[in-house]
Amino acid sequence: MKENSLLQKETSKVHLEVVDANKKYSANFGEKKDLGLPPARKFAILTCMDARLDPAKYAGLSEGDAHVIRNAGGRASDDAIRSLVISHKLLGTAEWFVIHHTDCGMEYFTDEIIRSLLSKSLSTASVDQDGWKNVSEDGGSKEANNISFLTIANQTESIIEDVQRIKHHPLVPSYIPVYGYIYDVKSGKLIEIPEATKVGKAT
Ligand SMILES: [Zn+2]
Repeated sequence: MKENSLLQKETSKVHLEVVDANKKYSANFGEKKDLGLPPARKFAILTCMDARLDPAKYAGLSEGDAHVIRNAGGRASDDAIRSLVISHKLLGTAEWFVIHHTDCGMEYFTDEIIRSLLSKSLSTASVDQDGWKNVSEDGGSKEANNISFLTIANQTESIIEDVQRIKHHPLVPSYIPVYGYIYDVKSGKLIEIPEATKVGKAT
């Protein structure tokens, strides 16, 4: 097909792989066409975007089961809370998990570090035992000074903090339980943070 050959010429390997994988996926779509919009198992997970985490696998989800909200760190940012509020108010989820993980990239920099890197270059930085460095200084932006990157100094504390923030949010009803977990990237296990689950208890 003409369109395909154009795509092959002008695009990346990954781009083609994704388009191809989707062809295979949609060819066997079957009964998934009948799935309803609200999550059938009525729960939501807020977790990190880390490529090693696959919530569908680590939490046993199928299409249509649950909402999965992901961002860097799995943090309870304003936007994550926006999604959770919609998830409950309009789509009926009734319990939420906040799942951070070991070896999270958000532990390896601070706002100061990323702001300083971005102020000189937007290109991917490198890291070694001396820390983060720009590979080139090809022009950056100070716009990062206006962003809180929600980095993590301590995983246990960040889980408790995020569960607390969600629980105390004026748009979150107190009857929603919020469970706090850390996913261990070395074992695939979810480790409960009891103090987080305690502050996240439904009342
Ligand atoms: Zn992470």
